[in-house]
Amino acid sequence: SVRVRFAPSPTGMFHVGGARSALFNWALARQRPDGRFVLRIEDTDAARNKPEWTEGIIRALGWLGIKEGDPHFEGPYFQSTYAGKHREAAEQMFKDGRAYYCDCTREQVQERRDNPHLGYDGFCRDRGLEPGPGRALRFRVPEGGPTVVDDRIRGRVEFEHSAIEDFVIARADGSPLFVLANVVDDVEMRITQVVRGEEHLSNTPKQQLLWEALGHTPPVWAHLPVIVNEKRQKLSKRRDKVALESYQDEGYLPEAMVNYLMLLGWAPGGDREIMPWEEMEPLFDISDVNSSSAFFDEKKLRAFNGEYIRMLPEPEFVERCLPWLRPEEAPWPAENFDTKAFATIAPLAQSRVALLGEIVPNVDFLFLDRPVEDERSWNKAMKPGVGKEMLTAALDRFDDRDLAWEAAELKTALEETGARLGLKLGKAQAPVRVAVTGRTVGLPLFESLELLGRERVQERLRAALA
Ligand code: GLU
Repeated sequence: SVRVRFAPSPTGMFHVGGARSALFNWALARQRPDGRFVLRIEDTDAARNKPEWTEGIIRALGWLGIKEGDPHFEGPYFQSTYAGKHREAAEQMFKDGRAYYCDCTREQVQERRDNPHLGYDGFCRDRGLEPGPGRALRFRVPEGGPTVVDDRIRGRVEFEHSAIEDFVIARADGSPLFVLANVVDDVEMRITQVVRGEEHLSNTPKQQLLWEALGHTPPVWAHLPVIVNEKRQKLSKRRDKVALESYQDEGYLPEAMVNYLMLLGWAPGGDREIMPWEEMEPLFDISDVNSSSAFFDEKKLRAFNGEYIRMLPEPEFVERCLPWLRPEEAPWPAENFDTKAFATIAPLAQSRVALLGEIVPNVDFLFLDRPVEDERSWNKAMKPGVGKEMLTAALDRFDDRDLAWEAAELKTALEETGARLGLKLGKAQAPVRVAVTGRTVGLPLFESLELLGRERVQERLRAALA
C-alpha cells in the first residue's frame, strides 16, 4: 500500500512550496484505493512554533481540498506527542552500538580540526562513554563506501561516507534532532514514499542510514525542485509573496491555485495547462517531475485564475464574491449593499476580472454614497473645453422624461449628445463615467447607468459640475 506524508513545521505562514509538496503527495495517495496521506505537524521546535501557524496550515490545506473526512486523509498527528518514541529509538541505537555518547564541546572539536576536514572528527567513537550530563548521542556512520539514495526525480545520488560526519541524533538534554525524529515518525507511520523539497536532499543519506539502523527498509525518496522567482532566486518569505493565505485574500480560487501549483515541476502532457484536479490526479506521476527549478509566475497564475472565474456558473460566481463584498471588508456603508443589484451586474464583472478581490473597485459606484475621488482619473477625463460641457449636455439630455432609462437608449442618447459637441462616443462617455463611477475604466457604462438609476446618475452629474 502507498502511505505518503506531509510533515510541515509550524514556524510561519503556509508557503506555496509547501502547498505544492502537499498536492503532489495528495495525488499519490488518492491514486490508490488504500493510499493514505498522513499529515504530521512537526512541532518539536517549541521556541519557533505557534498554534496559529498550525491552524493556518490545516486551514490552507483544507482550502486546497486536502482535509479530514476524505478517506485518504489521515491525521493530523503531532510530532511532539511521539517524544517517547524518539528517545526509545535513540537508546536502542546506543544499545546496538550504532550510536555513541560524546562529550566534546564545539570549541574542542574546532581546536582539533587541523585540516579542512569539516564536521566532527570521531574523537569519542571508541571511548565507550555511558550516557550522562553534557553528553550528546552521535550516529556511527559506517566507514568506507557510499550511501546511495535512489531518488525518483534525481536518479541515483551517491554520498561518500567519508563526507558524512558522525552526526548528532540526540542532544545532551536527550531531545532528538530533526533527522532522527523525522525518521522515527516515518517508520512508526509506515511511510512508503517521502516526497519533499530539495532542501532536504542533504539530510537524506543520514536518514537512510537511520532507517537501516532501525531495521527497516527506507522509503522511496523524491526531492522536488526548488521554486524560483522571475530573477531565478529561490522564493523567500522576506522577498516574495509566498503565503498561500495572501493569494486566498486577493481572490484566487482554490481550483486555479491547485491547477497552477501542480504545474510547478510537472505537466500533464499534451499542451493542456488548464486542467481541473479531477483530471490531473490520475495522470500525476512522480517520476515525470522535472529536476530543474520551477518558475513561480504570478502573471500566469493570475491568468489561470481569470479563466477559472469565467468557468464558474453565474450564481456560483455571485456566491464566491460575497466574502469580498461584506460590509466589514468593503468600503461602503452596510445598509447600501444590495445582493440583488450585485447579482444583476455580476455577469459584467465576471467576464473581466482576474481576481475576486477586483470586484470591489468595479462595483463600488453602486453601493457608495458618492463615487470614489481620484484626482488623476478626474483630470484625465475632465479635459478643459470637453468635460464640463459634456456633463452639462448629458444632464440636460437625461432630464428628458421621454428618454427610457435603459442601456441601449442611454447609449444612443450620449452618442447624439456627444456628436453635437463634436465628440466621438469614447470621448463623450469619459466625463460621464468619471462623474458617476469615479474611475476612467470599469464595467460597461450604459448598463452601469441603467442599474444606478436616473436619480442617482443626475445627482452625481450635478455634484461633479458643482
Ligand atoms: N518538518 C520538515 C519541514 O518542514 C519536514 C521535512 C520532510 O518532509 O521530511 O521541512
